[in-house]
Amino acid sequence: MASVILKDICKVYPNGFEAVKNFNLDIEDKEFIIFVGPSGCGKTTTLRMIAGLEEISSGELLIDGKLMNNVEPKDRDIAMVFQNYALYPHMTVFDNMAFGLKLRKVPKDQIKKQVLEAAHILDLEKLLDRKPKALSGGQRQRVAMGRAIVRNPKVFLMDEPLSNLDAKLRVQMRIEIAKLHDRLGATIIYVTHDQTEAMTLGTRIVVMKDGVVQQVDSPNRLYDYPCNLFVAGFIGSPQMNFLDATVEVKGSDVVLHVGPNAIKLPAAKAKKLIDGGYAGKTVVMGIRPEHVSDDEADLAAHADCVIESTIRVYETLGAEVFLYFDVEGANMTARVNPETKAKLGASVKFALNPEKIHVFDKETELVITN
Ligand code: ATP
Repeated sequence: MASVILKDICKVYPNGFEAVKNFNLDIEDKEFIIFVGPSGCGKTTTLRMIAGLEEISSGELLIDGKLMNNVEPKDRDIAMVFQNYALYPHMTVFDNMAFGLKLRKVPKDQIKKQVLEAAHILDLEKLLDRKPKALSGGQRQRVAMGRAIVRNPKVFLMDEPLSNLDAKLRVQMRIEIAKLHDRLGATIIYVTHDQTEAMTLGTRIVVMKDGVVQQVDSPNRLYDYPCNLFVAGFIGSPQMNFLDATVEVKGSDVVLHVGPNAIKLPAAKAKKLIDGGYAGKTVVMGIRPEHVSDDEADLAAHADCVIESTIRVYETLGAEVFLYFDVEGANMTARVNPETKAKLGASVKFALNPEKIHVFDKETELVITN
């Protein structure tokens, strides 16, 4: 398997559109890297440049230390799995998996060995004689993976490979892919819109916006330490709550005012705002829905971090309840225990967990404190 290095990679399409701007990333051997971001942010373009299907406008791509910019796709030792995996309908599962190897004139007994190995890994051994139309969506997707695996490539590139599957199959295949990564010990670069896939599969996630990498980090760090408002809002579902707040500094204390609500920050966070010169300024306060609580113990523990509002929507999800309300014109969500006493239309007090408050600069949108 292999390391992949992208150095200042840019893509300018012939019409002048800059789809990827100065993309820098060192991918280590065996990493599972996820590219995530809104539609059109340049994920697929980057993946296609790595595969050699799209020319690199500037910058360097190295695989295992070798410059790949001008190497033909077939010589890059990369296998790609697409969203539209299009199996050959007239061929059996075995032949679909063997096809690429036959084209490369691999000896027959070697082909058989590799296909059987891949079939074993993917639990397809009993289906080798079937044609694609006699397979379920998930089985077809596994055959598509098998086609990539038999080639024993240095790097797997996967472009939304699960997006054609229904919700249940997606979950199943997601688990399969995680196991596959473990078993193959492969370097995988995976593009997705789906942040659950990103959070559960990735060893590191690359969050992109408008062709620019925003943050590269482990799933947990992205969730807990977003570098800016965009990442904070993009990672996490339901998304982080954001409120405009005015900063009041009293000695070494900092209180954020949101309308009539006053929220006192813990000392370390307060210091960051004081040191940054934010006294009297408006900032954006962020708090995830699971850190907004109507529990009495939390209200008692965080009495100087309370906001009050009227419940607009009450959603029961079985294991948890989502409460929706507005604070000073901003939509807020609280993710609370099903034992909640909150009622639709009632005024409810919520404690914000002060340690979990994020504060962002309203102008630059960069984080001030996490
Ligand atoms: P999605 O999640 O929708 O697949 P993406 O993040 O993969 O989006 P890309 O397909 O990489 O995005 O496209 C990035 C940007 O480049 C988009 O704005 C797209 O319109 C533009 N683009 C893609 N191909 C071309 C092309 N051949 N010529 C000009 N612009 C292009």
